[in-house]
Amino acid sequence: MIVLREAGKDSFEDNPDKGIFEMDLHRLELPTPFPVGPVNAYLLRGDPLTLVDTGPKTVEAQTALERGVAAAGARLKDIRRILLTHGHTDHAGNAAWVAQRSGAPVHVHEGDRAKVSGRRWVLEHVKTFLTQAGLADSVVESFFEQIQALRQYLDPLAKVSSLTDGEYLPLDTERLRTLYTPGHSNGHVSFYHEDGVLIAGDLLLEGVSPNPLVEFTSDGKRIPTLPQYLQSLRRVLILNCEVAHPGHGGPIANPNARARELITHHEQRKEEIAGMIRRAPKTLAALCGELFPKMDDASLMLALSEVIGHLDLLAEEKRLAIGRKKGLLLYKVK
Ligand SMILES: [Zn+2]
Ligand SMILES: [Zn+2]
Repeated sequence: MIVLREAGKDSFEDNPDKGIFEMDLHRLELPTPFPVGPVNAYLLRGDPLTLVDTGPKTVEAQTALERGVAAAGARLKDIRRILLTHGHTDHAGNAAWVAQRSGAPVHVHEGDRAKVSGRRWVLEHVKTFLTQAGLADSVVESFFEQIQALRQYLDPLAKVSSLTDGEYLPLDTERLRTLYTPGHSNGHVSFYHEDGVLIAGDLLLEGVSPNPLVEFTSDGKRIPTLPQYLQSLRRVLILNCEVAHPGHGGPIANPNARARELITHHEQRKEEIAGMIRRAPKTLAALCGELFPKMDDASLMLALSEVIGHLDLLAEEKRLAIGRKKGLLLYKVK
């Protein structure tokens, strides 16, 4: 059985299930400078002492991490394994910092290796994508500035160990299974214990829909991230987990209900977007403007990702026609 502990409240001694394996999981809530709010790291006490996710590289997050680990009765330097659910800055930013203090290896899925190594974007592909979407050059420029600004929150890792789907990770006498759950990020993984507990990263979040961001392979092919994400949700449904510990916010008591809600949400949004391109073909920029009239430049990539993701779903169902006009891509439902 697995018990979630709040840092500082050690109920190890009075646990009635003592004697049965119990994952000693502590949620460490770390501040971020991002609109998403705080991010969770999890300290799994046991052998090897494991940290899942690390927060962004800020003094505030590092201080909170150090304090949280201490409140859980451990020390940063004793950490023996760092697992990353994915390579986004708010989760992976301090991995190098913790690795330096502990000597622990950092494990990440191959799909996010480039992100944590600091080779985050192949800018040419993004530029082509944004130009074909119908965005003005000034918007494209401001977008690139935002990407550059994000780099200060992540120390690139020179060396990472891989995580593969189905891989078992020992923890005391038990083990966690690595599940490849891409979509929100191409190298996103979750960690599952057969007692029904999922450390979910940004696969399942309460209150917000984890936006699968536009992403490209190293040779410039755009990855259909939303179809991938929905497949990952369906995969988690089969597990019928009792609780999920997400990357942001408190534990999710009914992970299947949340996964189904998210699947339904995307199904509805897909039909909403289909309705917008039934009569006339539109560019991605036009669709974003229609769907998010108050969008500012900072939310641009989220909006584009949201729209293109649902167009990818329509394409999968062979309902999408894509035309070209003066360097722009135009989308229409067949
Ligand atoms: Zn993320
Ligand atoms: Zn996140």
